[in-house]
Amino acid sequence: MVLVNFECCICGKSIDRDSGLDPCAISIYTNIDKDESEQLEQIFFSHYRCFQGTLESDLCAMMNLEDSN
Ligand SMILES: [Zn+2]
Repeated sequence: MVLVNFECCICGKSIDRDSGLDPCAISIYTNIDKDESEQLEQIFFSHYRCFQGTLESDLCAMMNLEDSN
């Protein structure tokens, strides 16, 4: 039984668990070059494919988590 429904922060759709990689979590830290006391952190959920689609093409080519399964 699924207790939590994850919504993708990129496409806005519900994230099914049938891809073998989803749901994914994305963390963002503000002021990463400053002291930890000046940073804020938030976690978002997304489809693996949606996040991969937001990356610049060279970086996207390096992101190959599906090969490590
Ligand atoms: Zn999505």
